[in-house]
Amino acid sequence: MTEHLSTQQQLLEWFATNGRDLPWRRTRNPYHILVAEIMLQQTQVDRVMPKYAAFLALFPTVEALAAASTAEVIRAWQGLGYNRRAVNLQRAAQALVAAGYPADPAAFPSTPAGLRELPGIGAYTAGAVACFAFERDVAFLDTNIRRVVRRLLAGPEDQPPATSEAQLTALAAELVPPGQGWAWNQAIMELGALICTAARPQCWRCPLRERCAAYATWSAADTNADLLTFTPTPPRARRKAAEQPFHTSSRYFRGRIIEALGQLADHEAHPLAQLGPLVKDGWTDAELAWLAKLATGLANDGLLVWREQPGDDLALWSVALPG
Ligand code: SF4
Repeated sequence: MTEHLSTQQQLLEWFATNGRDLPWRRTRNPYHILVAEIMLQQTQVDRVMPKYAAFLALFPTVEALAAASTAEVIRAWQGLGYNRRAVNLQRAAQALVAAGYPADPAAFPSTPAGLRELPGIGAYTAGAVACFAFERDVAFLDTNIRRVVRRLLAGPEDQPPATSEAQLTALAAELVPPGQGWAWNQAIMELGALICTAARPQCWRCPLRERCAAYATWSAADTNADLLTFTPTPPRARRKAAEQPFHTSSRYFRGRIIEALGQLADHEAHPLAQLGPLVKDGWTDAELAWLAKLATGLANDGLLVWREQPGDDLALWSVALPG
């Protein structure tokens, strides 16, 4: 859109000078991009870098990942969290192989709609792979892009107007410069990661400052505002998340369970009574039902399997990573 020409030009110029040299920006291999994009969801770049290299060394091709045991894939994922992503990634690899990839390169979908047909691939990953592997001019939202688009075109995220996901996606699509979708989406993500951060946007060094609705609102509201250190009020969702410390959350204990099972040899399993003390400090058998419920959730997500469920004595029920 011509109305966004300067915005596009300025951000692309900024990215050309300031963009980080990341391994997944040096390739168009769709498998490598898929691995990177799934790892990068909810995980910081610094933590992903070593895991990305190690994962691809272990599973260098779609076929290698598809043929591996799920336990092996989950072990390779350790340290990244949100282990369900590992299982989904392997399912996607298996679907690609079943469709004829890599003998038939076209079996790897190149459009967001085609990629969404793969198991566990959501709107963000589908858009990112279509753009970063196949250089399609598509718009998609991750946390960083969503925040930048919202601030830039609609204003501070904790003030009206309310914007739906569909509206933000439409706004993001308006911004994509034809023929430059790859660079544009990398650039807007990078701006969100490095400058337009959630808690401390550094508007003073932002290339889009003169065109930004949020900046206009903030600077008009307080002419003495120090935009060097400006901190917006955290949105309600983040405040709510902050209420529960991570080490008491279900996600934390799910991770501990997978970590404990990852230490076992392939044929071994942990009865819940043995697993409990490995997962929770101050464990008592009164917590067996709680642990069984967490294990059931993990089993439903394909992250573990029940080996034994004899009778009503939960202490004897045993679990292991999937084979
Ligand atoms: S001016 Fe500030 S709020 Fe606007 S895009 Fe830049 S960093 Fe974000």
